[in-house]
Amino acid sequence: MAGPVRRITILGATGSIGSNTLDVIARHPECYEVVALTGSSQLDKLADACERHRPRYAAVLDESAAERLSGLLRARGVETEVLAGGDALIRVATLPEVDTVMAAIVGSAGMPATLAAACAGKRVLLANKETLVLAGQLFMDAVRASGAELLPIDSEHNAIFQSLPAAFREQPYAMSLQDAGIAKIILTASGGPFRQRDLASLAAVTPEEAVRHPNWSMGRKISVDSASMMNKGLEVIEARWLFNAPADAIEVVVHPQSVIHSMVECVDGSVLAQLGSPDMRIPIAYGLAYPLRVATGAKRLNLAEIGRLDFEAPDLQRFPCLALAYEALRAGGAATAVLNAANEVAVAAFLESRLRFTDIPRVIAETLALPCDCDAASIESLLLADAWAREQAGALVDRLPC
Ligand code: NDP
Ligand code: MG
Repeated sequence: MAGPVRRITILGATGSIGSNTLDVIARHPECYEVVALTGSSQLDKLADACERHRPRYAAVLDESAAERLSGLLRARGVETEVLAGGDALIRVATLPEVDTVMAAIVGSAGMPATLAAACAGKRVLLANKETLVLAGQLFMDAVRASGAELLPIDSEHNAIFQSLPAAFREQPYAMSLQDAGIAKIILTASGGPFRQRDLASLAAVTPEEAVRHPNWSMGRKISVDSASMMNKGLEVIEARWLFNAPADAIEVVVHPQSVIHSMVECVDGSVLAQLGSPDMRIPIAYGLAYPLRVATGAKRLNLAEIGRLDFEAPDLQRFPCLALAYEALRAGGAATAVLNAANEVAVAAFLESRLRFTDIPRVIAETLALPCDCDAASIESLLLADAWAREQAGALVDRLPC
C-alpha cells in the first residue's frame, strides 16, 4: 500500500479487536508503526505484543500491574516504557507522534481515552460502541470541533459507512442521512446462539452457552450482548450518532448467516450492502488503510458454498433488550447511559453466575424505570448517571435469585 506510515495506539490491545488489529498490522509492517499498546489484566499477552511490535509505550491500569509488566519486559530485553493509570491511557491516546487510535477497550471504561483521542483530532477507529451509547452527542461534537477522522469498526457500521455515497464519506458526519439520499439504515443481526432455543429454557442458560456465538469470535461481554440482542440495541444507538439518523430510520433484520453486514436503503428504492466473511480483520483493515485497501488473511466469500441468505424480523418477546434500547434512545437525555451501565452490571453478574440470563433485561428495565436526576449536558453529568445506574442495577442484582 502506498501512502505515509501510520503511527498507532491500540487501546485494549490484549482483547479480541486489539489482537485482530495487531494481526492486520503484522501483515503490513511497512505501512504501520505501533507506538503504544494498552491492556488491563492480560499482562503476559501484553508483554508478548510488546516483544513482537516494540512500541514506545505500554499502559496498564495501576502501579502493581505496571511493575509486573516492567519485570516481564525486562526479562525479554524489551525497552518499552510502562505507564500506569487512567491518565496514562489518555496520554497514549493523544501523543503528538500518533495519528491513529484504535479504540478497543470494552465498556464505558473506554470512553475517556476514546473521547480524548477525538478531542486531539486523531483518526479514531471506533470499536468501543459504549462510548457512543454513553455520550453520543458530546463525542460527535468533539469529532466535529477537532476535525478528527472517525471510522466505524463495528462490522455493521463499517458496512453502512462503505455503502454510503462518496459525498458522505468525503464529508463524514457533516450531513444528515436524508441529505445523503438515504431513507433507512438496515442493521443485520445474527440472532446469536439463542435465536431458536426453546423460550422456557432460556432462564437456565449458562455463561459458556451464551458466549458461544454461531458466527463470530469475540470478547465475553459483547458475546453475551449478542446472545441477548442488547448488542444490536447498542448498535442502533451507535448508528443514531454515527450517521445522524433518527431512531425511526434505523431498522433491524435478523440474518443468521452474518454474510451481509448491513445495508442502506436509498430514497430511490435502491438497497446497497457490504458482504464478507464474518472476520473483524476486514473492517479493522478498512479503518487502518482508509481510503485504500489492504489484504487481511480473511477467508474469501464463496456464495455458491453459502447457498442461501435468510432474513426474519427480530422477536422482541425473546429479545426484550432490543426494545429497551430503542426506548432509551427515544427517551433521550441520560437514558442510554443508564441503559448501558445497567447492562454492563447485569452482564458481569451473569458471567459470574450471580444472575439468570433472562433477568438481564429485567435489571435494565427496572433501572431505567427509576427516576434519575442526571442529564446529558456534560461528560461529568453522564458519568454521574453511569455511576448511579451501576449502583441501582447492582442492588437489583443482589435482590434477584440466581
Ligand atoms: P475483549 O474483552 O476481548 O477486550 C477488551 C479489552 O479492553 C482488553 O484489552 C482488556 O484488557 C481491556 N479492558 C478491560 N477492562 C478495561 C478497563 N476497565 N480499562 C481499560 N481497559 C480494559 O473485548 P472485545 O475486543 O471483544 O471488544 C472491545 C470493544 O469492541 C467493545 O466495546 C465491543 O463492543 C467492541 N466490538 C467488538 C467486536 C468483536 O468482534 N470482538 C465487534 C464489534 C465491536 P485485558 O484483556 O488485558 O484485561
Ligand atoms: Mg457489530
